[in-house]
Amino acid sequence: MTMEVDILELSERSAKFILSDASAAFANGIRRAALSDVPTLAIDDVNIYNNTSVLFDEQLALRLGLIPLTTDIEEFVPVEECTCGGAECPACKISLTLSAEGPRMVYSGDLVSSDERVQAADQNIPIIDLKEGQKVVLEAVAHMNYGYKHAKWQAGVACGYKNMPIVTFENCDECGACVNECPKNIIHIGPNGAEIAGDDILKCILCKLCASVCEIDAITVSEDEKSFIFTMESDGSYTVQQLIINAGTTIKEKASRLGQILESL
Ligand SMILES: [Zn+2]
Repeated sequence: MTMEVDILELSERSAKFILSDASAAFANGIRRAALSDVPTLAIDDVNIYNNTSVLFDEQLALRLGLIPLTTDIEEFVPVEECTCGGAECPACKISLTLSAEGPRMVYSGDLVSSDERVQAADQNIPIIDLKEGQKVVLEAVAHMNYGYKHAKWQAGVACGYKNMPIVTFENCDECGACVNECPKNIIHIGPNGAEIAGDDILKCILCKLCASVCEIDAITVSEDEKSFIFTMESDGSYTVQQLIINAGTTIKEKASRLGQILESL
């Protein structure tokens, strides 16, 4: 079985592609790996030196934790896997500072990182609205970790797939009922009766309304069990391309670890 990937849309943060000749288990594996097994950086420790804002320290820390940070998977590792043995070195701990005085809105872009590779992925996330005389001075510490530990370490967002729809028309009498019924407006009457043109089939949501209104049962709706239409988005810590590659690498590493364990039995 040779898997094939057909890219439909690709931007910095989101991708849409068709994965064909793959099993449902593999498709779901990629989805789950992107959501929970690709480690990323997030703030999980905050030393607050001054906070006279209206937010409690805990609320402020919670907001900081949810800011996506740009991450390089080759350069950073979770503390537990680091060669420093938990002592916290530059490969597993990144410090960012924030110092602001009101009146003004404090944004994620105001965080000053000790490592230029690690920055807020979006500069315009509001953190706190400071009024006249209010101050926030803090050090935020980011660590690398996995999405399965906490959602703040989840690099993949909105990752999902559906099977490739297959819709066939046979002996169509051109009544046009399905054309009107389709909520996605992808069916039209062609030279040989009702049809779905080109890539429009990708928009099919498998609702089967077309088949249900066809009085002569000329329409069959099914799905290709070995072909998947994927959509994936990154929170900005990686480009979506890096995220998918990292997800694949994670699966590969897990599989080879399992192989080693089985061999040693
Ligand atoms: Zn370390």
